[in-house]
Amino acid sequence: MLLGLILGIIAIPLGANQLVSDYIKPFGTIFLNLLKLVAMPLIFASLVTGIAGMTDVGKLSRIGIKTIAMYLITTLLAVTIGLSLVSLIKPGSYFSDDRRQEFVSKYSLDISSRQQAAESITQDSPLQFLVDIVPENIVQAASSNTAMLQVIFFALLFGIALVLVRNPKVEVVNNFIQGLNEVILKIVEIIMFFAPFGVFALMASLIVDFAGDSLSSSLQLFASLGMYALTIIIGLIFIIVIVYPLFLKIISGTGFGKFYKSMFPAQLVAFSTSSSAATLPVTMKQVESELGVHEDISGFVLPLGVTINMDGTSLYQAVATVFIAQVFGIDLTFSQLLTILLTATLASIGSAGVPGAGVVMLIIVLNSVGLPVEGLALILAIDRPLDMLRTVVNVTGDATIAVCIAKSEGKLEA
Ligand code: ASP
Repeated sequence: MLLGLILGIIAIPLGANQLVSDYIKPFGTIFLNLLKLVAMPLIFASLVTGIAGMTDVGKLSRIGIKTIAMYLITTLLAVTIGLSLVSLIKPGSYFSDDRRQEFVSKYSLDISSRQQAAESITQDSPLQFLVDIVPENIVQAASSNTAMLQVIFFALLFGIALVLVRNPKVEVVNNFIQGLNEVILKIVEIIMFFAPFGVFALMASLIVDFAGDSLSSSLQLFASLGMYALTIIIGLIFIIVIVYPLFLKIISGTGFGKFYKSMFPAQLVAFSTSSSAATLPVTMKQVESELGVHEDISGFVLPLGVTINMDGTSLYQAVATVFIAQVFGIDLTFSQLLTILLTATLASIGSAGVPGAGVVMLIIVLNSVGLPVEGLALILAIDRPLDMLRTVVNVTGDATIAVCIAKSEGKLEA
């Protein structure tokens, strides 16, 4: 990653941007494609294996409820931390009126497509999200990486039925999926062999893309949004350094050092891909082989977490919303802050684990408290680096809960 960063930085003054885009970037894309390629079959096989490993449906629903409850608690905590920090630091007060005009005119075009996406979500019935979880055709659902929740639904149904049938005839199905799971995990191992090259290529091309033709003007942009970015970064660090270690220590007894050492490879991949879904294969591998979480638990908790548990994203959405209100000089009431708490939690659950998903859902949070969507113009320019960071937190949060649930079920190896 460091080498990629250095290459990106020296490529710009040397005018080698195109060279990096033409000859280095494709290797990053190949690595990303490999991860995406394996994500869907991995979710299916690991969820079914995880569920089939449970002896009864009662146990499954207990673990299910526990997992969702812990995911909700950490997300609510993250939003609360975000709201507290942004109210305390007030990053919006460092942003001048002129700057605001400049940003609004520069980025207004970028907003419209995202606004359309968010509009189509808000026009639906409030229960549309439930309808969306149930696919009408599993092949169609499995053919798109954005329909992960639908595949999860089918896998849950499939796994539960498998547990309920339990007769010699279905043993062959059970064995087949367990075998499939092992094959896919091997594929993940093979892909991980290329991870250093993939991460190198992704970093170099990200730097070149972000900086465009001039690194210094990009850095200037970053500086003008410095307090906003800093607020989010402080919040994310707080979650990583204080919140998760507390959960780990109290519930599972796992130490800070061991946990982060084990998670580091997954965090690097999350950072360079900005996608928790693409990182899932790596997260699973690390959580099982390094942290000792039993497959039954990780196979259930992690795929679910990738789609519904996004602590980094929810913190970011809370900070961004209040930041935009501050820049536009709008005072938020306590009940509006509560609305943000609720909608940011739901919006993060609804965000897919792909790059930039959090921004689209942010529009819904902005709408919920009547803030101008033009405010997005202020933050779009530096969204990518912040997306990289929040994805690291999203992935780490899933792993934290997986370890805690495993411990509480006696499925954590020493
Ligand atoms: N990129 C994030 C993820 O994949 C989602 C987001 O906040 O945009 O976890």
